[in-house]
Amino acid sequence: MAEKYKHIETAVIHEGYDSKEHLGSLTTPLFQTSTFTFETAEQGERRFAGLEDGYIYSRLGNPTVQVLEDKIAALEGGEAGLAFSSGMAAVSAVLFALTKTDDHILCSQGLYGCTFGLLQLMKSKYRINHDFCDMDTEEQLRKMIRPETACIYVETPINPTMKMIDLQMVMKVAKECNVPVVVDNTFSTPYLQKPLDYGCDVVLHSATKYLCGHGDVVAGLVVGKKEFINQVAVTTQKDIGGVISPFDAWLLLRGLKTLPVRMDRHSANAWEIFRELKQHPQVKNVYYPGDTSSPAHYIMEKQMKHGGGLISFELQGTKQDAQKFLNNLRLIKIAVSLGDAETLIQHPATMTHSAVPEEFRHQMGISDQLIRLSVGLEAWQDIWHDLQQAF
Ligand SMILES: *Cc1c(COP(=O)(O)O)cnc(C)c1O
Repeated sequence: MAEKYKHIETAVIHEGYDSKEHLGSLTTPLFQTSTFTFETAEQGERRFAGLEDGYIYSRLGNPTVQVLEDKIAALEGGEAGLAFSSGMAAVSAVLFALTKTDDHILCSQGLYGCTFGLLQLMKSKYRINHDFCDMDTEEQLRKMIRPETACIYVETPINPTMKMIDLQMVMKVAKECNVPVVVDNTFSTPYLQKPLDYGCDVVLHSATKYLCGHGDVVAGLVVGKKEFINQVAVTTQKDIGGVISPFDAWLLLRGLKTLPVRMDRHSANAWEIFRELKQHPQVKNVYYPGDTSSPAHYIMEKQMKHGGGLISFELQGTKQDAQKFLNNLRLIKIAVSLGDAETLIQHPATMTHSAVPEEFRHQMGISDQLIRLSVGLEAWQDIWHDLQQAF
């Protein structure tokens, strides 16, 4: 095991890997193998019985994947990490591990579309209920936590409305009520926000987004206490089986090395675009965590390093006007996903959140004119030039 590094800029590069243990290989070797051979039958028996350390089969563990899991655990400041084949595999493995029939999940008002879909499935098939809560005040939370509440599930900033939730405030109430808190940290990454520092119990990611950063992997990551991570590893991960491929883990390790550099640039670019959008006559509203005039800005100041690379904004007009705007773009690509080098734009009401019934969509603040922009790493002037000519 490598040593622990104090600064995240160093940890993303060196944490979890020691070249001395791998014939001096500078980068983590790719163990692209499904299984591992035992020297004897008795060794196989000992490994299955947990009496001897060592690898068995790549659904149960793989050395390349292990480096990634150790690295993300260190970056989030947690005890252990676990890697999945997608962000949704991570979300579902965590939520199924924490709940049973007749339990209740209290969620932030606004969730990733497929997380919303998963909660509907858990409710209709397994009678695991949920409610949405604004989570603006302690009173709101206290009122909605029930004896059977098995966890509080929070996105902050929320996809796609960019609303922020004060994690310190949530944790105060959650601790009083003894309810674990799960945070989807996809939008911020540990470079901008570290939920475990506030006492949150589990943090998870769609690693597909900023952690990968290059648009070539679909993956998920979870960090928490060793005991909980072990429990997930031997139940909802091992037996449902959404494990990451070693190659995808290897690509993620490569992408992670530049996370701080990329996040700084995404944020600096987004700040410039935000300021331009805010002044544009055809833009009705702009939502950006870095907006210093927003009443929620204190939350960003408290728990985020800076505003990140995502902006949502509402155009004047109709859904058709929003679609026409997207069609007019040349440099900026129309695509869901986010956090890539390329600037991406999408229309949540008809894309990422189209499966959410209209009533809930409006409750979440997703109008037909809302557009989500993932500001890339291009020169911000070129990004703005493209947006400007599309109005
Ligand atoms: C993309 C996303 C997910 C789902 O992750 P996948 O890797 O696409 O399965 C979950 N939460 C948030 C906030 C996301 O943006």
